[in-house]
Amino acid sequence: MSVEVEVLGGAREVGRASIALRYKGRVLLLDAGVNFDEEDKPVFARTVPPRDVDGIVLTHAHLDHIGTAPAYYITYQPPIIATKPTFEMARLMWEDFLKLNGYYSMYEDAEVKRLMEAAVYARYYSPIRVGDEFSVTLYPAGHIPGSAMVYVEVGGRRILYTGDVNTIYTKLMEPARVDGMPPVDLMIMEATYGASTHPPRKIVEERLVAIVEEVVDRGGTVLIPAFSISRGQEVMMILAERDLGIDVAVDGMVRQVTDIFLENPSYIRNVELLAKAREEFLFVQGWQDRRKVWKRPGVIIASAGMLKGGPSLYYLKKIMGNPKNAVVMVSFQAPGTPGRKILEEGLFHETGEPIRARVEWLDLSSHADRRGLLELVARIKPAKVLIVHSDGTVADSFAQLVRDKLGVDVEVAEEGRKYTL
Ligand SMILES: [Zn+2]
Ligand SMILES: [Zn+2]
Repeated sequence: MSVEVEVLGGAREVGRASIALRYKGRVLLLDAGVNFDEEDKPVFARTVPPRDVDGIVLTHAHLDHIGTAPAYYITYQPPIIATKPTFEMARLMWEDFLKLNGYYSMYEDAEVKRLMEAAVYARYYSPIRVGDEFSVTLYPAGHIPGSAMVYVEVGGRRILYTGDVNTIYTKLMEPARVDGMPPVDLMIMEATYGASTHPPRKIVEERLVAIVEEVVDRGGTVLIPAFSISRGQEVMMILAERDLGIDVAVDGMVRQVTDIFLENPSYIRNVELLAKAREEFLFVQGWQDRRKVWKRPGVIIASAGMLKGGPSLYYLKKIMGNPKNAVVMVSFQAPGTPGRKILEEGLFHETGEPIRARVEWLDLSSHADRRGLLELVARIKPAKVLIVHSDGTVADSFAQLVRDKLGVDVEVAEEGRKYTL
């Protein structure tokens, strides 16, 4: 009997991750994410019939890995496996997603509730049986707190799915770990940055601090739009470590996620530093704070990271007209988002006005770059690599690199195609 791998989303595309492993007619689903089109409407991953699904594994709480998952809970209730922080953050993400996109959604709050009832909390390195055929073990992925790589044994085959992965130390995270993992037949891997090299982390951190000090010294306000999960906290920790004596305000969903991190200390590399930031920085409580913080010199860390809404958009409107201020982007800015418009054209998307504040972009990525990804393949030494979660040309270039440098059999996944092993 062969094992079949079907790519339901995230082929030649960053996001909308979903993979079905099929054996004897039964399915183990790895992630079920969503993406957004140019009009910002959700594009769901393909689905398989929920009655065939023995279980679902979520690698981490980013929407591009979880946004389709509740759709499996309309009439069925398969067990769903993830770490505790992943479930806690995922619940916030689904609620927020439904608030913004409910009209286009395949599911509602009731399905999210049914999904949470089926939650199986997993720990790293502890195998879990799923149905009669699958065994699942999570390994730390280094990407965001709670993130996991998924090692699966089924029908005598061993498969590793990386989810999103990082191989360097950040303030929040230790790198991905694979020690003790048996050799795998197939490694299904992300290659978001398979064609680029990140600058050394230390240099980026110092640059961030230098910009902040410069702007605040001249009486300006620095707005840092940041993703709620991880990037916001990473920036908080970089600033807290230095004792700059500068006012820092934190606003948006970053606040709730910070509290989830603090409640799950074993998933954070340096939880004391995060606790210090939580204590020293102002967590904006409401409009009274919000109206005040942009009027004083200091830093504001706020979601949403691409300025699509949330408090970061409010602050942008308040500070963008004054060249004394600065907007520092630290998150990926997807094409068509307000953040991308600022970076590429220096314009405010709603009115077309020029942004007069200083605009900067810093690479604080939570994904491994091409060197990190290549090292990961070299350590795991899989018989075959299948590339997902990567733009087409990037995926092709990374596949070539793996072939040339490591001589490993490699393929770029195509959506809907079935691979057997
Ligand atoms: Zn992703
Ligand atoms: Zn991610």
